[in-house]
Amino acid sequence: MQLRQSPPVAEEADFALTYRFGPYFLDVAHRRLFSGSDVKTLPEKPFQVLTLLLEADGKVVERHTFFERLWPGDPVGDANLTQHIFMLRGLLGEHGGDNEYVLTVPGKGYRLAMPSEKKLGLAMKGSCERCGRVLKPLDEAYICSYECTFCPVCSDAMARICPNCGGEQVARPRR
Ligand SMILES: [Zn+2]
Ligand SMILES: [Zn+2]
Repeated sequence: MQLRQSPPVAEEADFALTYRFGPYFLDVAHRRLFSGSDVKTLPEKPFQVLTLLLEADGKVVERHTFFERLWPGDPVGDANLTQHIFMLRGLLGEHGGDNEYVLTVPGKGYRLAMPSEKKLGLAMKGSCERCGRVLKPLDEAYICSYECTFCPVCSDAMARICPNCGGEQVARPRR
């Protein structure tokens, strides 16, 4: 008897909803934060904090909005929010008082230092960027989070690492 194996996780790109800001790329469905070749799966609460900031697109997110979204019906103190902001800043590589991405707005809340770009799905290119092979919509192809597109042969040869951005290439969804 043969055991049926489920398909490996994260083999197929499912970047349904994504945000870009600064050097970062957030894959919302998988809570994955990409930066070049670095990929982190964000813990639930820092992910929610980041999502709220991204939805606000550089505008202030007030403290009560965080409380309502992160701890609905569960009154927590300011210290809790401060702690999760601190965690998010750490995940974004911000240490000490040098905050490049998440800014404190005194008396109000927090905001992102830059606008974010929201996207539904990734736009695949029509040909391999390495060998120029034409890729039709249902052809097997690999794509990185910055939409660099490669044929399977080239992607294999590069061990799935994008030469342009250093990011991981994943199989594109078949539609
Ligand atoms: Zn190719
Ligand atoms: Zn790339």
